Amino acid sequence: APVAHDAACIFCKIIKATTGEIPSFKLIETKYSFSFLDIQPTAEAHALVIPKFHGAKLHNVPDEYLADILPVTKKLAQATGLAIDSPEGVGYNVLQNNGRIAHQIVDHVHFHLIPKRDEKTGLV
Ligand code: 5GP
Ligand code: ZN
Repeated sequence: APVAHDAACIFCKIIKATTGEIPSFKLIETKYSFSFLDIQPTAEAHALVIPKFHGAKLHNVPDEYLADILPVTKKLAQATGLAIDSPEGVGYNVLQNNGRIAHQIVDHVHFHLIPKRDEKTGLV
């Protein structure tokens, strides 16, 4: 598998957790991906899943890395109590931005897992 790393990239630094340069709250790590809590969560347990390959946008990342992302996202949804089929109170968004015009800030592909919980009916 091809490997790409950008020494100046904040998410590449997070992946290289051993240096401790940019610490993160790690969730799941696989051969191809790394997931951690978003530092500015829009909801409790807002997570990011990133490929261990430096590509700015989705089309820059090899398929074997991308293929790992959704199964991990699913595991995170299950682990954080979001994987509920009832229509009541609990849901989540999976979001991936490409380019400034599309609200991308960090130029290393990342998938947001954003919990949605109704204040009244969302189980915690
Ligand atoms: P974007 O707008 O690029 O899709 O989202 C970037 C996300 O990365 C934001 O939600 C932001 O809070 C998060 N983020 C930026 N820098 C860091 C960091 O150093 N650590 C963590 N854990 N999240 C970060
Ligand atoms: Zn990177």
